[in-house]
Amino acid sequence: MHVAEILSREPGPFISVEIIPPRRGGNIQQVHSAVESLLPHRPRYINITSHAAEVVWQEQADGTFRRRVKRRSPGTFGLCAVIKYKYGIEPVPHLLCHGFTREETEDALIELHYLGVENVLALQGEEKYARPPRPDRTVNHYAVELVEQITAMNQGRYLDELTDAQPTRFCVGVAAYPEKHYQSPNLAFDIANLKRKQDAGASYAITQMFFDNRSYFEFLDKARSAGIYIPIIPGLKILTKKEQVYSLPRSFHVSIPEGLASAVLAAKGEAEVLEIGLEWAYHQAMDLLANGVRNLHFYTMLYTKPLLRLMSRLKLD
Ligand code: FAD
Repeated sequence: MHVAEILSREPGPFISVEIIPPRRGGNIQQVHSAVESLLPHRPRYINITSHAAEVVWQEQADGTFRRRVKRRSPGTFGLCAVIKYKYGIEPVPHLLCHGFTREETEDALIELHYLGVENVLALQGEEKYARPPRPDRTVNHYAVELVEQITAMNQGRYLDELTDAQPTRFCVGVAAYPEKHYQSPNLAFDIANLKRKQDAGASYAITQMFFDNRSYFEFLDKARSAGIYIPIIPGLKILTKKEQVYSLPRSFHVSIPEGLASAVLAAKGEAEVLEIGLEWAYHQAMDLLANGVRNLHFYTMLYTKPLLRLMSRLKLD
């Protein structure tokens, strides 16, 4: 089922989660354990992150670029099949611009189409992965271009003109940033970008994690005023470690409210940090639900224990 359909049909409230494939050579049992632990709470869909190949573009004497590829955490598509057919949950693989040519993206979408996977989250990908300089037309530079490519395939338009090309039927989600994407000059520019992604065919957006609900509600208001009507699903993370007070802002460009940061930094040990993180997430979740949010999306990686504790308090089932 399309995520857009789940969002329109299910009265909720319900959860969805994001997991990460194990590192290259890692044990898939980690994924089974994480998903099985969540089954009692019926996550309606599970996002699976994708890690761009670290691509090195070596310029050749004739001015063209040679591409060398190394992927850290492969397996996103294989995990989709496991989640869909072993657990009966809708998988949402993340598709990236970075690290893929447009041809490779088309091939990936064909693979997913044959697997029966009908949801994807279209993203630019993390900046650390090198890419060819613009104006290289062989790759998608921004998520909006990737959304356009998927929409074209949904209309039966592949990169080459093909006779009898079968339309795919992907439901496309995209990313949104209540605190602004770090490369955007301002929030209005970023919201205009989200509007372009909607206009290109995105059916919903999932936000970057945030720890102050005001940033989400203000973002929602501004997005609606800018003509964005698609659902914008709040992404939440439960803080579990002291160093996250520094590492989350560094990696994800999000702020940690003063009250949360000072409580975590004053905590005696990891167990106390977890209690503080849980308490914060509980109040965030309750406030979102009280304000009409029906789908809470949790960033779990493969560590579901904090979410399971939170769920026992939220009692959504
Ligand atoms: P875009 O929407 O393309 O925007 C990127 C930036 O470019 C924004 O600042 C935008 O305003 C700006 N921009 C857009 N168009 C133009 C233009 N024409 N000219 C100049 N600037 C422009 N990363 C991964 O590598 N793997 C994952 O699995 C993954 N999952 C994620 C899941 C979620 C829910 C979120 C929120 C992020 C995820 N990321 C992931 C991180 C994401 O790839 C990065 O944040 C990336 O830097 C931006 O991706 P985007 O799709 O929002 O990009």
